[in-house]
Amino acid sequence: MIDTIGSSVTLQNGVEMPLFGLGVFQTSGGRQVRNVVSWALEAGYRSIDTATVYDNEAGVGQALKSSSVPREEIFVTTKVWNSSQRTGHTLQAFDASLRAMQMDYVDLYLVHWPVAGHHVQTWRDLETIYESGRARAIGVSNFMVEHLQELLPQTRITPMVNQVEFHPYLQSPELLTLCQEAGIQVEAWAPIMKGRVTKVEELCSLGHKYGKTAVQVTLRWLLQRGIVAIPKSRKKQRIIENADIFDFQLTAEDMAVIDNLDRGQRIGPSPYTFKF
Ligand code: NDP
Repeated sequence: MIDTIGSSVTLQNGVEMPLFGLGVFQTSGGRQVRNVVSWALEAGYRSIDTATVYDNEAGVGQALKSSSVPREEIFVTTKVWNSSQRTGHTLQAFDASLRAMQMDYVDLYLVHWPVAGHHVQTWRDLETIYESGRARAIGVSNFMVEHLQELLPQTRITPMVNQVEFHPYLQSPELLTLCQEAGIQVEAWAPIMKGRVTKVEELCSLGHKYGKTAVQVTLRWLLQRGIVAIPKSRKKQRIIENADIFDFQLTAEDMAVIDNLDRGQRIGPSPYTFKF
Protein backbone atom coordinates (compact mmCIF):
# COMPACT_ATOMS: atom_id res chain seq x y z
CA MET A 1 0.00 0.00 0.00
CA ILE A 2 1.45 3.34 -1.05
CA ASP A 3 -0.12 5.54 1.60
CA THR A 4 2.70 7.69 2.97
CA ILE A 5 5.46 9.82 1.51
CA GLY A 6 7.84 7.37 3.18
CA SER A 7 6.64 4.51 0.95
CA SER A 8 9.66 2.82 -0.57
CA VAL A 9 10.87 0.10 -2.89
CA THR A 10 13.51 -2.44 -1.93
CA LEU A 11 16.48 -2.42 -4.28
CA GLN A 12 18.16 -5.72 -5.26
CA ASN A 13 20.77 -5.27 -2.50
CA GLY A 14 18.11 -4.73 0.19
CA VAL A 15 18.43 -0.93 0.41
CA GLU A 16 15.11 0.89 0.77
CA MET A 17 14.63 3.70 -1.75
CA PRO A 18 11.75 6.19 -1.35
CA LEU A 19 9.27 5.95 -4.24
CA PHE A 20 8.94 9.73 -4.22
CA GLY A 21 11.48 12.53 -4.05
CA LEU A 22 12.53 15.99 -5.21
CA GLY A 23 14.60 16.64 -8.34
CA VAL A 24 16.80 19.74 -8.35
CA PHE A 25 17.78 20.10 -12.02
CA GLN A 26 17.86 23.77 -13.14
CA THR A 27 17.76 24.94 -9.55
CA SER A 28 20.55 27.39 -8.85
CA GLY A 29 23.22 26.41 -6.40
CA GLY A 30 22.82 29.08 -3.72
CA ARG A 31 19.75 30.15 -1.84
CA GLN A 32 17.34 28.65 -4.36
CA VAL A 33 18.47 25.07 -3.88
CA ARG A 34 18.80 25.51 -0.10
CA ASN A 35 15.21 26.78 -0.03
CA VAL A 36 13.69 24.03 -2.14
CA VAL A 37 15.44 21.28 -0.19
CA SER A 38 14.31 22.80 3.13
CA TRP A 39 10.72 23.19 1.92
CA ALA A 40 10.74 19.61 0.65
CA LEU A 41 12.04 18.21 3.94
CA GLU A 42 9.37 20.19 5.81
CA ALA A 43 6.74 18.72 3.48
CA GLY A 44 7.99 15.22 4.32
CA TYR A 45 10.19 14.47 1.28
CA ARG A 46 13.06 12.15 2.20
CA SER A 47 14.77 11.78 -1.17
CA ILE A 48 16.74 14.40 -3.14
CA ASP A 49 18.07 13.88 -6.66
CA THR A 50 21.01 16.04 -7.74
CA ALA A 51 23.96 15.63 -10.13
CA THR A 52 27.43 17.13 -10.44
CA VAL A 53 26.41 18.91 -13.64
CA TYR A 54 23.51 20.69 -11.88
CA ASP A 55 26.17 22.64 -9.98
CA ASN A 56 24.14 22.64 -6.78
CA GLU A 57 25.54 19.72 -4.78
CA ALA A 58 27.09 22.09 -2.22
CA GLY A 59 23.75 23.83 -1.62
CA VAL A 60 21.97 20.50 -1.29
CA GLY A 61 24.55 19.43 1.28
CA GLN A 62 24.20 22.70 3.23
CA ALA A 63 20.41 22.42 3.35
CA LEU A 64 20.59 18.82 4.56
CA LYS A 65 23.18 19.71 7.19
CA SER A 66 21.15 22.57 8.59
CA SER A 67 17.96 20.52 8.74
CA SER A 68 16.82 18.70 11.87
CA VAL A 69 16.15 15.53 9.85
CA PRO A 70 18.98 13.04 10.49
CA ARG A 71 21.16 12.31 7.45
CA GLU A 72 20.39 8.60 7.62
CA GLU A 73 16.68 9.31 7.07
CA ILE A 74 17.37 11.04 3.75
CA PHE A 75 18.11 9.29 0.46
CA VAL A 76 20.61 11.35 -1.54
CA THR A 77 21.35 10.66 -5.20
CA THR A 78 24.04 12.24 -7.34
CA LYS A 79 25.59 11.37 -10.73
CA VAL A 80 28.94 11.33 -12.45
CA TRP A 81 29.04 13.75 -15.38
CA ASN A 82 30.06 12.77 -18.91
CA SER A 83 33.31 14.80 -18.98
CA SER A 84 34.63 12.83 -16.00
CA GLN A 85 33.76 9.60 -17.79
CA ARG A 86 35.63 10.73 -20.90
CA THR A 87 38.78 11.67 -18.99
CA GLY A 88 38.60 8.54 -16.80
CA HIS A 89 38.18 10.57 -13.60
CA THR A 90 35.06 8.99 -12.14
CA LEU A 91 36.68 8.13 -8.80
CA GLN A 92 37.93 11.70 -8.42
CA ALA A 93 34.52 13.07 -9.44
CA PHE A 94 32.86 10.96 -6.75
CA ASP A 95 35.29 12.26 -4.09
CA ALA A 96 34.58 15.83 -5.24
CA SER A 97 30.81 15.26 -4.94
CA LEU A 98 31.16 13.97 -1.39
CA ARG A 99 33.34 16.96 -0.48
CA ALA A 100 30.88 19.41 -2.06
CA MET A 101 27.97 17.88 -0.17
CA GLN A 102 29.99 17.49 3.07
CA MET A 103 29.01 13.84 3.27
CA ASP A 104 30.91 10.64 3.76
CA TYR A 105 28.49 8.57 1.68
CA VAL A 106 25.65 8.91 -0.82
CA ASP A 107 22.64 6.65 -1.04
CA LEU A 108 22.76 6.28 -4.80
CA TYR A 109 25.46 7.13 -7.35
CA LEU A 110 24.52 7.02 -11.03
CA VAL A 111 26.30 7.00 -14.40
CA HIS A 112 24.52 10.06 -15.78
CA TRP A 113 24.58 9.13 -19.50
CA PRO A 114 25.90 6.12 -21.45
CA VAL A 115 28.99 7.76 -22.98
CA ALA A 116 30.02 5.48 -25.84
CA GLY A 117 33.40 3.87 -25.34
CA HIS A 118 33.54 4.88 -21.68
CA HIS A 119 30.47 3.81 -19.75
CA VAL A 120 31.62 0.23 -19.13
CA GLN A 121 34.81 1.49 -17.44
CA THR A 122 32.74 4.07 -15.56
CA TRP A 123 30.54 1.27 -14.29
CA ARG A 124 33.62 -0.62 -13.05
CA ASP A 125 34.61 2.51 -11.13
CA LEU A 126 31.13 2.63 -9.59
CA GLU A 127 31.53 -1.01 -8.54
CA THR A 128 34.75 0.01 -6.76
CA ILE A 129 32.95 2.90 -5.06
CA TYR A 130 30.11 0.60 -3.98
CA GLU A 131 32.54 -1.93 -2.55
CA SER A 132 34.24 0.85 -0.58
CA GLY A 133 30.91 1.42 1.22
CA ARG A 134 30.64 5.07 0.21
CA ALA A 135 27.56 4.56 -1.99
CA ARG A 136 24.75 2.46 -0.53
CA ALA A 137 23.56 1.71 -4.07
CA ILE A 138 24.82 2.32 -7.61
CA GLY A 139 22.99 2.58 -10.88
CA VAL A 140 22.79 4.04 -14.35
CA SER A 141 20.76 6.74 -16.05
CA ASN A 142 19.54 7.09 -19.62
CA PHE A 143 20.54 3.50 -20.41
CA MET A 144 18.30 2.06 -23.11
CA VAL A 145 17.85 -1.65 -23.95
CA GLU A 146 20.96 -1.70 -26.18
CA HIS A 147 23.13 -0.03 -23.52
CA LEU A 148 22.03 -2.51 -20.87
CA GLN A 149 22.53 -5.45 -23.21
CA GLU A 150 26.09 -4.27 -23.76
CA LEU A 151 26.78 -3.55 -20.09
CA LEU A 152 25.11 -6.40 -18.22
CA PRO A 153 27.34 -9.25 -19.45
CA GLN A 154 30.39 -7.21 -18.35
CA THR A 155 29.34 -6.36 -14.80
CA ARG A 156 30.12 -7.95 -11.47
CA ILE A 157 27.28 -5.96 -9.91
CA THR A 158 24.02 -5.36 -11.76
CA PRO A 159 22.92 -1.71 -11.66
CA MET A 160 20.33 -1.30 -8.94
CA VAL A 161 18.52 1.62 -10.60
CA ASN A 162 18.04 3.03 -14.11
CA GLN A 163 16.86 6.65 -14.09
CA VAL A 164 15.27 7.45 -17.45
CA GLU A 165 12.83 9.87 -19.02
CA PHE A 166 9.47 8.27 -18.26
CA HIS A 167 5.98 9.77 -18.27
CA PRO A 168 2.53 9.16 -19.80
CA TYR A 169 3.81 9.94 -23.33
CA LEU A 170 7.00 7.84 -22.98
CA GLN A 171 6.53 4.49 -21.26
CA SER A 172 9.28 2.41 -22.95
CA PRO A 173 7.65 -1.01 -22.41
CA GLU A 174 10.63 -3.08 -23.65
CA LEU A 175 13.06 -1.22 -21.41
CA LEU A 176 10.73 -1.62 -18.46
CA THR A 177 10.47 -5.37 -19.00
CA LEU A 178 14.24 -5.77 -19.33
CA CYS A 179 14.80 -3.78 -16.13
CA GLN A 180 12.17 -5.77 -14.24
CA GLU A 181 13.71 -9.06 -15.38
CA ALA A 182 17.19 -7.92 -14.39
CA GLY A 183 16.09 -6.57 -10.99
CA ILE A 184 16.81 -2.95 -11.94
CA GLN A 185 14.49 -0.39 -10.35
CA VAL A 186 13.20 2.17 -12.87
CA GLU A 187 13.16 5.82 -11.79
CA ALA A 188 11.35 8.48 -13.84
CA TRP A 189 12.89 11.81 -14.76
CA ALA A 190 10.57 14.46 -16.25
CA PRO A 191 7.78 12.49 -14.53
CA ILE A 192 5.27 15.33 -15.09
CA MET A 193 6.55 16.04 -18.61
CA LYS A 194 8.20 19.24 -17.36
CA GLY A 195 4.77 20.57 -16.37
CA ARG A 196 3.09 19.68 -19.68
CA VAL A 197 0.81 17.03 -18.16
CA THR A 198 -1.39 19.98 -17.17
CA LYS A 199 -2.30 20.27 -20.87
CA VAL A 200 -3.28 16.62 -21.35
CA GLU A 201 -7.06 16.37 -21.44
CA GLU A 202 -7.32 12.78 -20.13
CA LEU A 203 -5.09 13.61 -17.14
CA CYS A 204 -7.07 16.77 -16.36
CA SER A 205 -10.36 14.89 -16.42
CA LEU A 206 -8.98 12.11 -14.21
CA GLY A 207 -7.77 14.84 -11.86
CA HIS A 208 -11.26 16.26 -11.78
CA LYS A 209 -12.70 12.84 -10.93
CA TYR A 210 -10.38 12.37 -7.92
CA GLY A 211 -10.36 16.01 -6.77
CA LYS A 212 -6.67 16.20 -7.72
CA THR A 213 -4.59 17.92 -10.41
CA ALA A 214 -3.24 16.34 -13.61
CA VAL A 215 0.22 16.50 -12.00
CA GLN A 216 -0.93 14.63 -8.89
CA VAL A 217 -2.75 11.97 -10.91
CA THR A 218 0.36 11.42 -13.06
CA LEU A 219 2.63 11.07 -10.04
CA ARG A 220 0.20 8.67 -8.38
CA TRP A 221 0.09 6.57 -11.58
CA LEU A 222 3.89 6.27 -11.56
CA LEU A 223 3.99 5.19 -7.93
CA GLN A 224 1.21 2.65 -8.43
CA ARG A 225 3.26 1.22 -11.31
CA GLY A 226 6.19 0.84 -8.92
CA ILE A 227 8.25 3.53 -10.64
CA VAL A 228 10.20 6.01 -8.54
CA ALA A 229 9.30 9.66 -9.31
CA ILE A 230 11.34 12.79 -8.57
CA PRO A 231 9.33 15.80 -9.78
CA LYS A 232 11.06 19.15 -9.65
CA SER A 233 9.69 22.50 -8.60
CA ARG A 234 11.29 25.70 -7.39
CA LYS A 235 8.00 26.85 -5.86
CA LYS A 236 7.09 26.04 -2.28
CA GLN A 237 3.39 25.63 -2.98
CA ARG A 238 4.02 23.18 -5.83
CA ILE A 239 6.53 21.20 -3.78
CA ILE A 240 3.82 20.71 -1.17
CA GLU A 241 1.07 20.06 -3.73
CA ASN A 242 3.12 17.52 -5.70
CA ALA A 243 3.53 15.43 -2.55
CA ASP A 244 -0.19 15.40 -1.78
CA ILE A 245 -0.72 12.08 -3.54
CA PHE A 246 -0.88 9.59 -0.70
CA ASP A 247 -4.57 9.86 0.16
CA PHE A 248 -6.12 8.42 -2.99
CA GLN A 249 -5.80 5.37 -5.23
CA LEU A 250 -6.34 5.18 -9.00
CA THR A 251 -8.56 2.30 -10.06
CA ALA A 252 -7.20 -0.34 -12.45
CA GLU A 253 -9.43 1.15 -15.15
CA ASP A 254 -8.03 4.64 -14.67
CA MET A 255 -4.47 3.29 -14.54
CA ALA A 256 -5.18 1.74 -17.96
CA VAL A 257 -6.39 5.09 -19.33
CA ILE A 258 -2.95 6.57 -18.55
CA ASP A 259 -1.12 3.44 -19.76
CA ASN A 260 -2.84 3.99 -23.11
CA LEU A 261 -1.44 7.51 -23.53
CA ASP A 262 2.01 6.17 -24.48
CA ARG A 263 3.27 7.66 -27.77
CA GLY A 264 6.97 6.92 -27.41
CA GLN A 265 7.45 10.70 -27.32
CA ARG A 266 10.55 12.25 -25.75
CA ILE A 267 10.80 15.73 -24.28
CA GLY A 268 14.48 15.58 -23.40
CA PRO A 269 17.59 14.50 -25.32
CA SER A 270 17.79 11.02 -26.78
CA PRO A 271 20.27 8.61 -25.16
CA TYR A 272 21.11 7.44 -28.70
CA THR A 273 22.12 10.82 -30.13
CA PHE A 274 23.09 13.13 -27.25
CA LYS A 275 26.28 15.09 -27.92
CA PHE A 276 27.14 16.53 -24.50
P1 NDP B 1 9.60 17.53 -14.27
O1 NDP B 1 8.73 16.63 -15.08
O2 NDP B 1 9.81 17.22 -12.84
O3 NDP B 1 8.99 18.97 -14.43
C1 NDP B 1 9.55 20.12 -13.84
C2 NDP B 1 8.81 21.35 -14.40
O4 NDP B 1 7.44 21.27 -14.04
C3 NDP B 1 9.35 22.64 -13.88
O5 NDP B 1 9.36 23.58 -14.96
C4 NDP B 1 8.34 23.06 -12.82
O6 NDP B 1 8.26 24.46 -12.78
C5 NDP B 1 7.05 22.45 -13.35
N1 NDP B 1 6.14 22.04 -12.26
C6 NDP B 1 6.45 21.43 -11.10
N2 NDP B 1 5.35 21.18 -10.37
C7 NDP B 1 4.30 21.65 -11.08
C8 NDP B 1 2.91 21.71 -10.85
N3 NDP B 1 2.39 21.22 -9.73
N4 NDP B 1 2.12 22.28 -11.80
C9 NDP B 1 2.66 22.76 -12.94
N5 NDP B 1 3.97 22.75 -13.21
C10 NDP B 1 4.80 22.20 -12.30
O7 NDP B 1 10.99 17.64 -15.07
P2 NDP B 1 12.53 17.58 -14.68
O8 NDP B 1 13.27 17.60 -15.95
O9 NDP B 1 12.90 18.62 -13.69
O10 NDP B 1 12.73 16.14 -14.04
C11 NDP B 1 12.66 15.89 -12.65
C12 NDP B 1 14.03 15.58 -12.08
O11 NDP B 1 14.60 14.48 -12.75
C13 NDP B 1 15.07 16.69 -12.28
O12 NDP B 1 14.89 17.79 -11.43
C14 NDP B 1 16.34 15.92 -12.07
O13 NDP B 1 16.57 15.71 -10.70
C15 NDP B 1 16.03 14.61 -12.78
N6 NDP B 1 16.47 14.62 -14.18
C16 NDP B 1 17.40 13.67 -14.54
C17 NDP B 1 17.87 13.62 -15.83
C18 NDP B 1 18.87 12.59 -16.18
O14 NDP B 1 19.47 12.67 -17.26
N7 NDP B 1 19.12 11.62 -15.33
C19 NDP B 1 17.42 14.55 -16.88
C20 NDP B 1 16.42 15.49 -16.42
C21 NDP B 1 15.97 15.50 -15.12
P3 NDP B 1 8.59 25.29 -11.41
O15 NDP B 1 9.97 24.92 -10.99
O16 NDP B 1 8.45 26.70 -11.86
O17 NDP B 1 7.54 24.86 -10.43
